[in-house]
Amino acid sequence: MGRSRPTIDGMELTLADIRAAHDVVRRHLPPTPLWNYPLLDRELGANVLVKHENTQPVGAFKVRGGLTLLDAMPAGERARGTVTWSTGNHAQSIAYASRLHDAPCTVVMPSHASPSKAAAVEAWGGRAVLTGDTLEDAQRHAGKLAAESGARLVSPGDTPELLAGVGTLYLEILEQAPDLDAIVVPVGSGTGAAAACLVAAALAPGCAVIGVQAAASPAAHDSWRAGELLSRPNRTAVAGLATGRGFDLPQRIMRAGLADFVLVGDDEIDVARRLLATTAHTLAEGAGAAGVAAVLSRPDLFAGRSVAVVCTGGNADAAELGTLAGGRG
Ligand SMILES: *Cc1c(COP(=O)(O)O)cnc(C)c1O
Repeated sequence: MGRSRPTIDGMELTLADIRAAHDVVRRHLPPTPLWNYPLLDRELGANVLVKHENTQPVGAFKVRGGLTLLDAMPAGERARGTVTWSTGNHAQSIAYASRLHDAPCTVVMPSHASPSKAAAVEAWGGRAVLTGDTLEDAQRHAGKLAAESGARLVSPGDTPELLAGVGTLYLEILEQAPDLDAIVVPVGSGTGAAAACLVAAALAPGCAVIGVQAAASPAAHDSWRAGELLSRPNRTAVAGLATGRGFDLPQRIMRAGLADFVLVGDDEIDVARRLLATTAHTLAEGAGAAGVAAVLSRPDLFAGRSVAVVCTGGNADAAELGTLAGGRG
């Protein structure tokens, strides 16, 4: 299904990097489950496998990237530590991996970030710095802190080691289910979807990688469609899908490898979260349910197909927990 795909070459990253990252990730974390739920299939009209990254110790797939990055850093650089910026799961991932390596880690967050996100970083031993109104402010401040301290500044979207790390989950999916028609990947910066493109192109060329983003924050989607990096309003309530601009490295890979890119409403994501709770006893955060929302909203793409959806995370905040019980689903 989907349009034909050129081979992905000339990229900074290859399947060999992702396989090497898997050796690192496997030393620390078991493969996550990939389950089918007949009741969910019935609701979605497709044969769906759910990849449970919500079961990771930090509650999201990004931990694979953090582990890979910290492992790849030379000892001297690691001792100086990292500075990064994030509103959520990337922060916990870097903090988790830094603790394993006894490396200092500072995460800059916008001052409105939820206190529980900052608390999670500090619980893993990282330092959370809250400043400014936007993620762009946080990025600027992170750059300043890194320059002052000599720590490595880590971009959440344009760091090849993070892509290699998150790509390991697609190795696990396609080794277990090589005959899939499609894999649906929730997109924020696009590291996960780009890595999925690399793995699928090498291991399962017949499997279409399809991205999904919130219609209220369409920067990655619009950048992919336009073939250039764009900034867009960032109004989704779904953390994880909330980015205001396209990132260069993942966009270049997605341009070569992504078969399609779907937008869903925040309300559709709420319905999907409820479906995962009621048919798959799974607590997903909004971003983690976006794949199910895509399958639900686009029967033209998915009806009757074998599809893996990545439940990218389960760090639902208090507001998301509050809406889980209401409405239909
Ligand atoms: C970060 C994140 C995403 C988006 O991943 P990208 O690699 O930034 O595109 C999706 N879901 C969850 C739960 C996340 O934490």
